[in-house]
Amino acid sequence: MSEPGVEEVDLLVVGGGKAGKSLAMDRAGAGWRVAMVERDKIGGTCINVACIPTKALVGSARTLLSARGAAMMGVEVDGEASVSLEGLRRHEASVVGGMVAAHEQMFARSGMDFILGTARFVAERTVAITGRVGASRVVRGEHVLVNTGTTPAVPALAGIDEADVWDSEAILRLDRLPETLLILGGGYVGCEFASMFAVFGSRVTLLQSGGQVLSREDPDVAAQVAEILTAQGVDVRLGARARAVRRDAGGGEVVVSLEDGSQVRGEELLVATGRAPVTSGLGLDLAGVAVTERGFVVVDDHLRTKAERVWAAGDVAGSPQFTHASWNDFRILKANLTGGEAVTTGRLVPYTVFVTPELARIGLSETEAEAQGRRVKVARIPVAAIPRAKTLHETVGAWKAVVDAETDLILGAALLGHGAGEVISAVQLAMLGGLTYQQVRDAPLTHPTMGEGLNILFDALDAGEPQRPNTEPAPVRARGRPPQ
Ligand SMILES: Cc1cc2nc3c(=O)[nH]c(=O)nc-3n(C[C@H](O)[C@H](O)[C@H](O)COP(=O)(O)OP(=O)(O)OC[C@H]3O[C@@H](n4cnc5c(N)ncnc54)[C@H](O)[C@@H]3O)c2cc1C
Repeated sequence: MSEPGVEEVDLLVVGGGKAGKSLAMDRAGAGWRVAMVERDKIGGTCINVACIPTKALVGSARTLLSARGAAMMGVEVDGEASVSLEGLRRHEASVVGGMVAAHEQMFARSGMDFILGTARFVAERTVAITGRVGASRVVRGEHVLVNTGTTPAVPALAGIDEADVWDSEAILRLDRLPETLLILGGGYVGCEFASMFAVFGSRVTLLQSGGQVLSREDPDVAAQVAEILTAQGVDVRLGARARAVRRDAGGGEVVVSLEDGSQVRGEELLVATGRAPVTSGLGLDLAGVAVTERGFVVVDDHLRTKAERVWAAGDVAGSPQFTHASWNDFRILKANLTGGEAVTTGRLVPYTVFVTPELARIGLSETEAEAQGRRVKVARIPVAAIPRAKTLHETVGAWKAVVDAETDLILGAALLGHGAGEVISAVQLAMLGGLTYQQVRDAPLTHPTMGEGLNILFDALDAGEPQRPNTEPAPVRARGRPPQ
């Protein structure tokens, strides 16, 4: 029964992130009555202030590096290559603006009710929407999806609130390229900005409290990334635990005081110490939706919250903090809202850290595999062993794969080098298809491509093993076909 003043829909999406907008368009296209409420970012975090603008700028950094290395490829470029702030801004704005405009059209075409405003739960499956909608609206969904994402977290450091520091969104406004940039946090966001700004010409100091950058990676992989950053001019300081932050009087330099008593100074400070869920003030308690101590929505493996017919997805639901994980949540939700039983358990979510060259990762690291007590074989090659890398003078980096010593199945890989983010998809498909490392090793992959490096990588596992002469007639089958 509908109440006066309450609009009823089949699906109410709160927060238009990757999962939310995908589900809203899909269900609206299927004829459901759908309302999606978005506070301020048409298309969500990824296209406005995260993946897309940062990768547009990584593209600029790589173009600059290519231009600087052009002579090596026999290409003469007049004058010295450099970036212009205005040009960077234009490039970033055109990429983001184009995607936002495309989303506006897609939303309209899907037939959903796209509401620009801030939603707050006022009862079970019911939100009040204020802000850009003018008069407030109250909407109740037969099903509700919470997809409000995360936002940059500010660490509890003395003085930080008064020091006018940047977070990953403020730095993208690009009102100047600082001569000196301090970055607090050596996770993937900190490393990406460090690499990019160092290439643009800023003197970057990366402060990482732990003993390695990218704390989740194997120490050897993290050390190689740190070496690459150092070669780009980044001053990588490990074990640098910040205690307090202040800015000199009159808008002067930022000073970070470290626990060892030393201080580091710079024109600007980027704080990249993680992200916090957007759940406070959302009224989730009124909707019966539980959150964890850290504020993430509690979901089960079907992405169901504690409240009936209320679902959550993406960063806010504790999914791996990547756009493609949120998109995969959408696939799971679509199945579950239409009678299926899809789950998040055991899914394989790769990721790429867009330093230059990039690090692509999937599955178990060597450290994780060993912690699980597995017997593993580890394949390693330098990127310089891949013919394609030589043709491009892109020989920096190393590849590594972890293989189960009993089953020969690929458990994980860390590919650091040119094009790694593309090649990791091939490893992912091999893992999803249950291929042994020998099947990948023996597949005739296109020459010369970076993907061909997988033949070389898995060949390296057997290097040194005695080659037995083949005494039996060779079976007639295409190379690369799975053994029967
Ligand atoms: C600098 C940076 C770079 C990144 N690069 C990559 C990358 O290269 N690849 C990758 O896969 N991931 C990357 N990520 C992570 C990726 O951006 C996130 O994992 C992804 O955007 C999460 O999507 P989501 O679906 O959880 O929701 P989001 O896209 O975060 O959307 C949530 C939406 O909810 C809205 N909202 C919040 N509260 C309300 C409310 N009360 N009412 C209405 N609307 C509300 C917000 O405005 C927002 O638009 C990056 C992140 C950062 C910070």
